Amino acid sequence: MAEDKCGVAGCNEPAVKSYSRETVEKAGLKAAEEKGKRMHLCKEHNKQFKKATKEERKLESLGR
Ligand SMILES: [Zn+2]
Repeated sequence: MAEDKCGVAGCNEPAVKSYSRETVEKAGLKAAEEKGKRMHLCKEHNKQFKKATKEERKLESLGR
């Protein structure tokens, strides 16, 4: 098994998903390291990420 840990600064939980680092940072999550295009997220941060991206889409659909 690959040792995929959450890539968010200060978090050391096992990762459940991976996204591009850029996307994750746009969602307001801070990457622990600047290298690498992929970023892994744990269950909690994945939830935060989804919530953040969802809200962003909601704002866009409001036409602001
Ligand atoms: Zn995490």
